[in-house]
Amino acid sequence: MAWFSKEKKLTSKATTPATPPAPAKKGEGIWNKCDGCGEVVYKAEWERNWNVCPACGHHDMLPVRRRFDLLLDPGSFEELDADLTPQDPLAFTDAKRYRDRLRSTYRTTGLRDAFVSGVGAIGGQAISLGSFAFEFMGGSMGSVVGEKVARVIDRAYERRIPCVVFSSTGGARMQEGIFSLMQMAKTSAALHRFRAVRKPYVSVMLHPTTGGVAASFAWLGDVVIAEPKALIGFAGPRVIEQTIREKLPPGFQRSEFLLEHGMIDAIVPRLEMRDRLAQILSLLA
Ligand SMILES: [Zn+2]
Repeated sequence: MAWFSKEKKLTSKATTPATPPAPAKKGEGIWNKCDGCGEVVYKAEWERNWNVCPACGHHDMLPVRRRFDLLLDPGSFEELDADLTPQDPLAFTDAKRYRDRLRSTYRTTGLRDAFVSGVGAIGGQAISLGSFAFEFMGGSMGSVVGEKVARVIDRAYERRIPCVVFSSTGGARMQEGIFSLMQMAKTSAALHRFRAVRKPYVSVMLHPTTGGVAASFAWLGDVVIAEPKALIGFAGPRVIEQTIREKLPPGFQRSEFLLEHGMIDAIVPRLEMRDRLAQILSLLA
């Protein structure tokens, strides 16, 4: 009996690839080829420049903890809610079981889910903050991510401090179905409560910020800023074109287009982000 169940377990495990197919990692080796201009840059130089191309200014993805290193006062970050771990409420399976996908992503990224949060300081101003980690399942928002975002806002409410959220996400996590979509309402309600303390909520949209996140707290900032050329929107351009049967204008849904049309407040290059955030916080906090 015991042998039978053990063997069965092993068989089912054997059908799941032990390691997920490694995503093509840019910058592997010592050179990095820029997606913007094709320039080949020494990887150490690329990283020293916070993954911004020194030749054309293209902003490549920046891992979440590196972003905190760049923006926060040294040694000020204290991570909170790090132990929140996603469950699989729908026992969801597509090409792979959701719980296996979570496990393998945890192994490759070292993250429990697609959001890292806590408290820190920028320019001496204490803030409650969080950032999406796009490297974790495309920065998708499931119930853990939504809960962590709501806690970032609630913590800002309790401590009467500003709140800053960096979004980089494909939107709601399909594997959690309606539980993901509920996070849009939950985070928006938390923001509504936060309004009472009259402290600023700054939303920073990174490339890309789409789907349910763009349609909820990411666009509800008192100040909404974006990195250059970030893709920001609800549905992608191809879906919109097919729905309205019209060709979209060039640059549609990029930060520059959105700024021109009054949808965001500013575009701030990554290397100027810390100073600009410090300035906004000192004016509004
Ligand atoms: Zn470049």
